[in-house]
Amino acid sequence: MAASMGTVAPLSLRVLAECRVSKARACELRLPHGEVPTPVFMPVGTQGTMKGVSAHQLRALGCCICLGNTYHLGMRPGPDLIKKAKGLHGFMNWDQNLLTDSGGFQMVSLVELSEVTEEGVRFKSPYDGKQILLTPEKSIEIQNALGSDIMMQLDDVVSSTISGPRVEEAMYRSIRWLDRSIAGNQNPNSQNLFAIIQGGLDPKLRKKCLDEMTKRDVPGFAIGGLSGGEEKDHFWKMVTLSTDHLPHEKPRYLMGVGYATDLVVCVALGCDMFDCVFPTRTARFGSALVPWGALQLKHKQYAKDFQPIDRNCSCPTCKRHTRAYLHALFRSDTAALHHITIHNIAYQLNLMLSVRESILQQRFPEFVQDFMRTMYGDKKYPRWAIDALASVNITLD
Ligand SMILES: [Zn+2]
Repeated sequence: MAASMGTVAPLSLRVLAECRVSKARACELRLPHGEVPTPVFMPVGTQGTMKGVSAHQLRALGCCICLGNTYHLGMRPGPDLIKKAKGLHGFMNWDQNLLTDSGGFQMVSLVELSEVTEEGVRFKSPYDGKQILLTPEKSIEIQNALGSDIMMQLDDVVSSTISGPRVEEAMYRSIRWLDRSIAGNQNPNSQNLFAIIQGGLDPKLRKKCLDEMTKRDVPGFAIGGLSGGEEKDHFWKMVTLSTDHLPHEKPRYLMGVGYATDLVVCVALGCDMFDCVFPTRTARFGSALVPWGALQLKHKQYAKDFQPIDRNCSCPTCKRHTRAYLHALFRSDTAALHHITIHNIAYQLNLMLSVRESILQQRFPEFVQDFMRTMYGDKKYPRWAIDALASVNITLD
Protein backbone atom coordinates (compact mmCIF):
# COMPACT_ATOMS: atom_id res chain seq x y z
CA MET A 1 0.00 0.00 0.00
CA ALA A 2 2.29 2.75 -1.22
CA ALA A 3 1.60 6.27 -0.06
CA SER A 4 2.85 9.48 -1.63
CA MET A 5 6.47 10.63 -1.57
CA GLY A 6 7.92 7.13 -1.43
CA THR A 7 6.56 6.31 2.00
CA VAL A 8 4.89 3.02 2.78
CA ALA A 9 2.10 3.00 5.32
CA PRO A 10 3.00 0.88 8.37
CA LEU A 11 -0.23 -1.06 8.01
CA SER A 12 -1.55 -3.90 5.94
CA LEU A 13 -4.89 -5.64 5.91
CA ARG A 14 -5.40 -9.21 4.75
CA VAL A 15 -9.02 -10.29 4.29
CA LEU A 16 -9.10 -13.90 5.49
CA ALA A 17 -12.81 -14.61 5.00
CA GLU A 18 -15.92 -12.86 3.79
CA CYS A 19 -19.41 -13.93 4.81
CA ARG A 20 -21.25 -15.29 1.73
CA VAL A 21 -24.53 -13.78 2.94
CA SER A 22 -23.79 -10.43 4.60
CA LYS A 23 -20.97 -7.85 4.37
CA ALA A 24 -19.13 -9.31 7.41
CA ARG A 25 -15.43 -10.05 7.04
CA ALA A 26 -12.59 -11.43 9.13
CA CYS A 27 -9.17 -9.88 8.56
CA GLU A 28 -5.65 -9.77 9.85
CA LEU A 29 -4.56 -6.20 10.45
CA ARG A 30 -0.81 -5.73 10.67
CA LEU A 31 0.35 -2.73 12.68
CA PRO A 32 3.75 -1.66 14.07
CA HIS A 33 3.09 -3.34 17.42
CA GLY A 34 1.80 -6.65 16.10
CA GLU A 35 -1.11 -8.29 14.36
CA VAL A 36 -4.70 -7.49 15.24
CA PRO A 37 -7.38 -10.03 14.34
CA THR A 38 -10.57 -8.29 13.21
CA PRO A 39 -13.40 -7.61 13.79
CA VAL A 40 -11.96 -6.07 16.95
CA PHE A 41 -13.24 -4.11 19.93
CA MET A 42 -10.74 -1.60 21.32
CA PRO A 43 -11.13 -0.68 25.01
CA VAL A 44 -10.69 2.99 25.86
CA GLY A 45 -7.98 4.14 28.27
CA THR A 46 -7.80 7.51 29.94
CA GLN A 47 -4.65 9.11 31.35
CA GLY A 48 -2.63 6.18 30.03
CA THR A 49 -4.36 3.52 32.07
CA MET A 50 -7.72 1.85 31.83
CA LYS A 51 -9.80 2.88 34.80
CA GLY A 52 -8.84 0.25 37.34
CA VAL A 53 -7.09 -2.05 34.86
CA SER A 54 -3.33 -2.27 34.28
CA ALA A 55 -1.67 -2.71 30.89
CA HIS A 56 -0.56 -6.14 32.07
CA GLN A 57 -4.11 -7.22 32.90
CA LEU A 58 -5.39 -5.89 29.60
CA ARG A 59 -2.76 -7.91 27.78
CA ALA A 60 -3.67 -11.03 29.78
CA LEU A 61 -7.25 -10.65 28.48
CA GLY A 62 -5.90 -10.92 24.93
CA CYS A 63 -6.24 -7.25 24.01
CA CYS A 64 -3.94 -6.33 21.08
CA ILE A 65 -5.04 -2.71 20.60
CA CYS A 66 -6.47 -0.07 22.91
CA LEU A 67 -7.19 3.65 22.79
CA GLY A 68 -5.14 6.40 24.37
CA ASN A 69 -6.80 9.70 25.05
CA THR A 70 -5.04 12.58 23.29
CA TYR A 71 -6.98 15.35 24.96
CA HIS A 72 -6.10 14.27 28.49
CA LEU A 73 -2.56 13.14 27.69
CA GLY A 74 -1.85 16.25 25.65
CA MET A 75 -2.83 18.42 28.61
CA ARG A 76 -1.11 16.49 31.38
CA PRO A 77 1.44 15.13 31.65
CA GLY A 78 1.93 16.78 28.23
CA PRO A 79 3.49 15.58 24.97
CA ASP A 80 7.09 16.51 25.87
CA LEU A 81 7.11 14.34 28.99
CA ILE A 82 5.48 11.45 27.16
CA LYS A 83 8.03 11.74 24.36
CA LYS A 84 10.79 11.45 26.97
CA ALA A 85 9.09 8.31 28.33
CA LYS A 86 9.53 6.67 24.87
CA GLY A 87 6.07 7.67 23.79
CA LEU A 88 2.75 6.49 25.10
CA HIS A 89 3.78 2.83 24.76
CA GLY A 90 6.68 3.38 27.15
CA PHE A 91 4.67 5.64 29.43
CA MET A 92 1.87 3.07 29.78
CA ASN A 93 4.25 0.10 29.61
CA TRP A 94 2.06 -1.25 26.80
CA ASP A 95 3.85 -3.24 24.09
CA GLN A 96 0.73 -3.76 21.95
CA ASN A 97 -0.92 -1.36 19.50
CA LEU A 98 -2.34 2.01 20.43
CA LEU A 99 -4.86 4.24 18.71
CA THR A 100 -5.09 7.89 19.71
CA ASP A 101 -7.97 10.24 18.99
CA SER A 102 -7.48 13.76 17.69
CA GLY A 103 -8.55 15.40 20.92
CA GLY A 104 -11.28 17.34 19.13
CA PHE A 105 -14.25 15.27 20.15
CA GLN A 106 -13.29 15.50 23.82
CA MET A 107 -13.24 19.24 23.54
CA VAL A 108 -16.56 19.59 21.85
CA SER A 109 -18.18 17.14 24.25
CA LEU A 110 -16.46 18.11 27.50
CA VAL A 111 -15.66 21.77 27.18
CA GLU A 112 -18.58 24.11 26.94
CA LEU A 113 -16.58 27.06 25.77
CA SER A 114 -15.24 25.73 22.50
CA GLU A 115 -15.35 27.58 19.22
CA VAL A 116 -14.66 26.10 15.80
CA THR A 117 -13.05 28.24 13.07
CA GLU A 118 -11.24 27.26 9.86
CA GLU A 119 -8.00 27.43 11.84
CA GLY A 120 -9.03 24.88 14.45
CA VAL A 121 -10.92 24.44 17.71
CA ARG A 122 -10.39 27.14 20.32
CA PHE A 123 -11.22 26.30 23.91
CA LYS A 124 -10.42 27.10 27.50
CA SER A 125 -8.30 24.55 29.33
CA PRO A 126 -10.30 23.01 32.16
CA TYR A 127 -7.01 22.61 34.05
CA ASP A 128 -5.68 26.17 34.11
CA GLY A 129 -8.23 28.25 32.20
CA LYS A 130 -5.73 29.18 29.46
CA GLN A 131 -6.94 29.70 25.89
CA ILE A 132 -5.83 26.82 23.68
CA LEU A 133 -6.11 26.48 19.92
CA LEU A 134 -6.14 22.90 18.67
CA THR A 135 -5.38 22.87 14.95
CA PRO A 136 -5.18 19.78 12.71
CA GLU A 137 -1.38 20.24 12.69
CA LYS A 138 -1.21 20.58 16.48
CA SER A 139 -3.28 17.44 16.98
CA ILE A 140 -0.95 15.45 14.71
CA GLU A 141 2.08 16.95 16.46
CA ILE A 142 0.78 15.70 19.81
CA GLN A 143 -0.09 12.29 18.37
CA ASN A 144 3.37 12.10 16.74
CA ALA A 145 4.87 12.73 20.19
CA LEU A 146 2.63 10.04 21.70
CA GLY A 147 3.84 7.61 19.02
CA SER A 148 0.53 5.80 18.56
CA ASP A 149 0.17 3.15 15.85
CA ILE A 150 -3.03 4.74 14.56
CA MET A 151 -3.69 8.49 14.74
CA MET A 152 -7.02 10.14 14.01
CA GLN A 153 -7.38 13.36 12.03
CA LEU A 154 -8.93 16.36 13.76
CA ASP A 155 -12.44 16.63 12.37
CA ASP A 156 -15.18 19.19 12.73
CA VAL A 157 -17.68 17.32 14.87
CA VAL A 158 -21.29 18.35 14.93
CA SER A 159 -24.03 16.64 16.90
CA SER A 160 -25.67 13.82 14.94
CA THR A 161 -29.06 15.20 15.89
CA ILE A 162 -28.70 18.53 14.07
CA SER A 163 -29.29 19.16 10.37
CA GLY A 164 -28.90 22.08 7.98
CA PRO A 165 -25.92 24.04 6.59
CA ARG A 166 -23.72 23.52 9.64
CA VAL A 167 -23.52 19.78 8.83
CA GLU A 168 -22.36 20.54 5.28
CA GLU A 169 -19.82 23.10 6.48
CA ALA A 170 -18.39 20.60 9.01
CA MET A 171 -18.14 17.88 6.36
CA TYR A 172 -16.20 20.07 3.90
CA ARG A 173 -14.02 21.46 6.69
CA SER A 174 -13.18 17.92 7.81
CA ILE A 175 -11.90 17.17 4.29
CA ARG A 176 -9.67 20.28 4.39
CA TRP A 177 -8.47 19.35 7.86
CA LEU A 178 -7.63 15.84 6.62
CA ASP A 179 -5.29 17.38 4.03
CA ARG A 180 -3.66 19.55 6.70
CA SER A 181 -3.29 16.47 8.95
CA ILE A 182 -1.66 14.42 6.17
CA ALA A 183 0.78 17.29 5.49
CA GLY A 184 1.57 17.63 9.20
CA ASN A 185 2.38 13.96 9.87
CA GLN A 186 6.12 13.74 10.64
CA ASN A 187 6.10 9.93 10.94
CA PRO A 188 4.24 8.49 7.93
CA ASN A 189 6.57 5.47 7.98
CA SER A 190 5.75 4.48 11.54
CA GLN A 191 2.34 5.99 12.36
CA ASN A 192 -0.91 5.49 10.45
CA LEU A 193 -3.27 8.41 9.98
CA PHE A 194 -6.97 7.57 9.62
CA ALA A 195 -9.51 9.83 7.92
CA ILE A 196 -12.93 10.34 9.53
CA ILE A 197 -15.99 10.26 7.29
CA GLN A 198 -18.51 12.95 8.26
CA GLY A 199 -21.73 14.21 6.71
CA GLY A 200 -24.26 13.79 9.49
CA LEU A 201 -27.37 11.81 8.60
CA ASP A 202 -27.58 13.16 5.05
CA PRO A 203 -26.79 10.40 2.49
CA LYS A 204 -25.70 12.95 -0.15
CA LEU A 205 -23.22 14.63 2.21
CA ARG A 206 -21.91 11.26 3.44
CA LYS A 207 -21.41 10.12 -0.14
CA LYS A 208 -19.63 13.36 -1.05
CA CYS A 209 -17.32 12.96 1.95
CA LEU A 210 -16.65 9.31 1.05
CA ASP A 211 -15.84 10.26 -2.56
CA GLU A 212 -13.42 13.00 -1.51
CA MET A 213 -11.69 11.27 1.39
CA THR A 214 -11.16 7.97 -0.44
CA LYS A 215 -9.20 9.93 -3.08
CA ARG A 216 -6.60 10.54 -0.37
CA ASP A 217 -4.18 7.69 0.15
CA VAL A 218 -4.65 7.24 3.90
CA PRO A 219 -4.06 3.83 5.52
CA GLY A 220 -7.57 3.53 7.00
CA PHE A 221 -10.98 5.13 7.41
CA ALA A 222 -13.24 5.81 10.34
CA ILE A 223 -16.98 6.38 10.19
CA GLY A 224 -17.57 9.36 12.46
CA GLY A 225 -20.34 11.61 13.63
CA LEU A 226 -22.71 8.80 14.56
CA SER A 227 -23.76 7.14 17.81
CA GLY A 228 -24.63 10.51 19.30
CA GLY A 229 -28.28 10.00 20.10
CA GLU A 230 -29.65 9.85 16.54
CA GLU A 231 -32.39 7.39 15.63
CA LYS A 232 -31.03 3.90 15.13
CA ASP A 233 -32.72 3.71 11.76
CA HIS A 234 -30.60 6.66 10.55
CA PHE A 235 -27.51 5.27 12.25
CA TRP A 236 -27.39 1.90 10.48
CA LYS A 237 -28.25 3.39 7.09
CA MET A 238 -25.26 5.77 7.34
CA VAL A 239 -23.00 2.89 8.43
CA THR A 240 -23.98 0.64 5.52
CA LEU A 241 -23.74 3.51 3.02
CA SER A 242 -20.19 4.14 4.26
CA THR A 243 -19.00 0.53 4.03
CA ASP A 244 -20.49 0.31 0.51
CA HIS A 245 -18.07 3.01 -0.63
CA LEU A 246 -14.96 2.43 1.49
CA PRO A 247 -12.05 0.59 -0.13
CA HIS A 248 -12.07 -3.17 0.34
CA GLU A 249 -8.37 -3.40 1.21
CA LYS A 250 -8.37 -0.86 4.05
CA PRO A 251 -9.68 -1.10 7.63
CA ARG A 252 -13.07 0.42 8.53
CA TYR A 253 -13.41 1.77 12.03
CA LEU A 254 -16.83 2.63 13.40
CA MET A 255 -16.30 5.16 16.19
CA GLY A 256 -18.11 5.16 19.52
CA VAL A 257 -20.05 1.92 19.11
CA GLY A 258 -19.95 -0.68 21.89
CA TYR A 259 -23.36 -2.17 22.73
CA ALA A 260 -23.20 -5.88 21.93
CA THR A 261 -26.18 -5.80 19.54
CA ASP A 262 -24.75 -2.78 17.70
CA LEU A 263 -21.37 -4.52 17.34
CA VAL A 264 -22.87 -7.68 15.87
CA VAL A 265 -25.15 -5.77 13.47
CA CYS A 266 -22.36 -3.40 12.33
CA VAL A 267 -20.00 -6.32 11.68
CA ALA A 268 -22.76 -7.66 9.40
CA LEU A 269 -22.73 -4.25 7.69
CA GLY A 270 -18.98 -4.55 7.02
CA CYS A 271 -17.16 -2.75 9.86
CA ASP A 272 -13.84 -4.05 11.24
CA MET A 273 -12.96 -1.94 14.29
CA PHE A 274 -14.94 -0.47 17.19
CA ASP A 275 -14.37 1.49 20.38
CA CYS A 276 -16.61 2.69 23.17
CA VAL A 277 -16.40 3.72 26.80
CA PHE A 278 -19.66 1.89 27.50
CA PRO A 279 -18.35 -1.46 28.87
CA THR A 280 -15.98 0.24 31.33
CA ARG A 281 -18.35 3.06 32.22
CA THR A 282 -21.27 0.73 32.90
CA ALA A 283 -19.01 -1.41 35.12
CA ARG A 284 -18.58 1.57 37.41
CA PHE A 285 -22.33 1.54 37.96
CA GLY A 286 -22.25 -2.15 38.90
CA SER A 287 -23.50 -3.48 35.59
CA ALA A 288 -21.91 -6.72 34.35
CA LEU A 289 -22.37 -7.65 30.68
CA VAL A 290 -23.69 -11.12 29.88
CA PRO A 291 -24.98 -12.76 26.67
CA TRP A 292 -28.58 -12.21 27.81
CA GLY A 293 -28.08 -8.51 28.66
CA ALA A 294 -26.61 -7.22 31.92
CA LEU A 295 -26.63 -8.01 35.64
CA GLN A 296 -27.05 -5.08 38.01
CA LEU A 297 -24.88 -6.48 40.79
CA LYS A 298 -25.91 -3.79 43.26
CA HIS A 299 -29.40 -5.27 43.37
CA LYS A 300 -30.38 -7.20 46.46
CA GLN A 301 -31.24 -10.31 44.47
CA TYR A 302 -27.51 -11.04 44.12
CA ALA A 303 -26.72 -10.88 47.85
CA LYS A 304 -26.95 -14.66 48.19
CA ASP A 305 -26.20 -15.66 44.61
CA PHE A 306 -23.06 -17.80 44.67
CA GLN A 307 -22.70 -18.22 40.91
CA PRO A 308 -20.05 -16.35 38.92
CA ILE A 309 -21.27 -13.45 36.75
CA ASP A 310 -21.31 -15.84 33.78
CA ARG A 311 -20.41 -19.51 34.21
CA ASN A 312 -19.26 -19.65 30.57
CA CYS A 313 -16.84 -16.73 31.00
CA SER A 314 -13.20 -17.60 31.65
CA CYS A 315 -12.07 -14.15 32.85
CA PRO A 316 -10.20 -13.81 36.17
CA THR A 317 -13.29 -12.32 37.85
CA CYS A 318 -15.60 -15.19 36.89
CA LYS A 319 -12.96 -17.77 37.81
CA ARG A 320 -12.50 -16.35 41.30
CA HIS A 321 -15.55 -14.45 42.49
CA THR A 322 -19.28 -14.91 42.97
CA ARG A 323 -22.09 -12.44 42.33
CA ALA A 324 -22.70 -12.39 46.11
CA TYR A 325 -19.08 -11.42 46.81
CA LEU A 326 -19.12 -8.64 44.21
CA HIS A 327 -22.46 -7.40 45.58
CA ALA A 328 -21.01 -7.22 49.11
CA LEU A 329 -17.78 -5.62 47.88
CA PHE A 330 -19.72 -2.75 46.36
CA ARG A 331 -20.72 -1.53 49.78
CA SER A 332 -17.19 -1.07 51.03
CA ASP A 333 -14.61 -1.09 48.31
CA THR A 334 -13.81 0.20 44.82
CA ALA A 335 -12.30 -3.24 44.05
CA ALA A 336 -15.76 -4.32 42.86
CA LEU A 337 -15.47 -1.83 39.98
CA HIS A 338 -12.11 -3.26 39.07
CA HIS A 339 -13.42 -6.85 38.96
CA ILE A 340 -16.48 -5.94 36.88
CA THR A 341 -14.42 -3.78 34.50
CA ILE A 342 -12.13 -6.77 33.85
CA HIS A 343 -15.15 -8.98 33.18
CA ASN A 344 -16.81 -6.45 30.86
CA ILE A 345 -13.67 -5.99 28.78
CA ALA A 346 -13.31 -9.79 28.58
CA TYR A 347 -16.95 -10.01 27.50
CA GLN A 348 -16.43 -7.54 24.62
CA LEU A 349 -13.18 -9.16 23.46
CA ASN A 350 -14.67 -12.67 23.61
CA LEU A 351 -17.80 -11.57 21.77
CA MET A 352 -15.65 -10.30 18.91
CA LEU A 353 -13.58 -13.49 18.89
CA SER A 354 -16.79 -15.55 18.58
CA VAL A 355 -18.02 -13.27 15.79
CA ARG A 356 -14.70 -13.70 14.01
CA GLU A 357 -14.67 -17.50 14.38
CA SER A 358 -18.15 -17.69 12.90
CA ILE A 359 -17.10 -15.60 9.87
CA LEU A 360 -14.00 -17.77 9.32
CA GLN A 361 -16.21 -20.89 9.49
CA GLN A 362 -18.91 -19.44 7.20
CA ARG A 363 -21.61 -19.63 9.86
CA PHE A 364 -21.93 -15.94 10.70
CA PRO A 365 -25.67 -15.68 9.85
CA GLU A 366 -26.42 -18.57 12.24
CA PHE A 367 -24.23 -16.93 14.86
CA VAL A 368 -26.22 -13.71 14.58
CA GLN A 369 -29.53 -15.58 14.91
CA ASP A 370 -28.30 -17.42 18.03
CA PHE A 371 -26.84 -14.24 19.51
CA MET A 372 -30.12 -12.34 19.03
CA ARG A 373 -32.22 -15.20 20.46
CA THR A 374 -30.03 -15.29 23.57
CA MET A 375 -29.99 -11.49 23.98
CA TYR A 376 -33.73 -11.02 23.38
CA GLY A 377 -35.27 -14.20 24.78
CA ASP A 378 -38.81 -13.01 24.14
CA LYS A 379 -37.91 -12.41 20.47
CA LYS A 380 -38.81 -8.77 20.82
CA TYR A 381 -35.92 -7.80 18.62
CA PRO A 382 -35.35 -4.09 18.08
CA ARG A 383 -36.95 -3.05 14.79
CA TRP A 384 -33.81 -1.30 13.51
CA ALA A 385 -31.72 -4.46 14.06
CA ILE A 386 -34.26 -6.59 12.14
CA ASP A 387 -34.19 -4.08 9.26
CA ALA A 388 -30.40 -3.62 9.26
CA LEU A 389 -29.78 -7.37 9.22
CA ALA A 390 -32.45 -7.93 6.55
CA SER A 391 -30.64 -5.38 4.36
CA VAL A 392 -27.67 -7.79 4.32
CA ASN A 393 -29.84 -10.91 3.90
CA ILE A 394 -29.85 -12.13 7.50
CA THR A 395 -33.39 -12.80 8.71
CA LEU A 396 -34.37 -13.20 12.34
CA ASP A 397 -36.99 -15.86 13.01
ZN1 LIG B 1 -16.09 -12.93 33.38
